[in-house]
Amino acid sequence: MINFTYTDYLHTIIIIEMNLYDVIIIGGGPAGLNAAVVLGRCRRNVLLFDTGKQRNRHSRGIHNYLTRDDILPRDFLHLSHKEVRKYGVRLVHAEVSGAKKNEKGLFSVTDSKGVLYYAKKILIATGLTDRLPSLEGFDKFFGKSVFHCPYCDGWEVKDKQIGVYARNKNGFEFALSLTTWSRSVTYFTDGKKTLKPEEASKLKQFGIPVITDKIQKLNGTGGNLKSIVMKNNESYPCDALFFVNGYSQQSHIVENLGCFLNNKKVVVTNRFGQTNIAGVYVAGDASRDMHFVVVAAAEGAKAGVTINKELQKEERNTA
Ligand SMILES: Cc1cc2nc3c(=O)[nH]c(=O)nc-3n(C[C@H](O)[C@H](O)[C@H](O)COP(=O)(O)OP(=O)(O)OC[C@H]3O[C@@H](n4cnc5c(N)ncnc54)[C@H](O)[C@@H]3O)c2cc1C
Repeated sequence: MINFTYTDYLHTIIIIEMNLYDVIIIGGGPAGLNAAVVLGRCRRNVLLFDTGKQRNRHSRGIHNYLTRDDILPRDFLHLSHKEVRKYGVRLVHAEVSGAKKNEKGLFSVTDSKGVLYYAKKILIATGLTDRLPSLEGFDKFFGKSVFHCPYCDGWEVKDKQIGVYARNKNGFEFALSLTTWSRSVTYFTDGKKTLKPEEASKLKQFGIPVITDKIQKLNGTGGNLKSIVMKNNESYPCDALFFVNGYSQQSHIVENLGCFLNNKKVVVTNRFGQTNIAGVYVAGDASRDMHFVVVAAAEGAKAGVTINKELQKEERNTA
């Protein structure tokens, strides 16, 4: 027999009246939005929060996504929003400040104004934030001629003068890998001298000069890089700069909920996005290390199906 107290009854009424959703999705990049479309089409009651800070928002065009080549991130979002709304998903432009699981297994989610929402399951797709090098002029070029991923932007600068910036990380492998896109690669360490002798000689063998002087600024116009100016006033022609400088989780919700992170600081999940906490799913860059729009979208879709199956199982068990 189910032991249902008067307090339980009141609690249930309060929750029904206070925004109970099947699923709350936190993060409206490709991962969260693709989960939303799958769940909306499963006739689930879905609420999605987003603050509009998608990782690629400064980019001039998305690549590696069939049928969407070169689309601007904002146009991709516009199309996605139209699609998810068609299936009844509620989109809210607000920050989620915290999420908690109660003793009955329901989740409470608080937005930045302190409003509480409830859900049976939550999907976190809050992505990552790139640690950007602090170089004068960096913001003007980021996403336009300064990038972090040659798979995303290497084709557009093939055979051009490519620079590699690696100060806090070792850029040895990265510099070598960029020779796939151009024979003209220069490695800038911005004052660091940490290359091992065997690495330095391999780079020399591949014709990659290593510049260890400190950088003064990035130089160019209209988002197009032209040169890298050093503190000693020397200047190196450069059409595109690829940097490696690390990243961090964009939101601390996952850590506060107690989700396990691996040594790359992304959330550990199974291949369907399930974390170590029942009912909490993570998809997209926040959980894996193949950071592509199409991969994030696919992970969102997989998590969406898994969440729907979990809800179906629970509904059958309580019928
Ligand atoms: C310059 C650049 C160019 C790129 N180009 C490409 C490319 O050409 N092709 C490609 O495949 N990939 C590209 N990428 C990588 C791509 O951007 C990511 O792989 C992809 O955006 C990951 O999707 P996501 O949904 O996991 O996270 P994101 O797209 O980063 O979305 C996360 C969302 O969560 C929201 N959010 C975070 N915290 C909260 C909170 N507390 N409350 C509410 N909302 C929150 C953010 O505002 C954001 O909108 C590029 C990245 C960069 C930096």
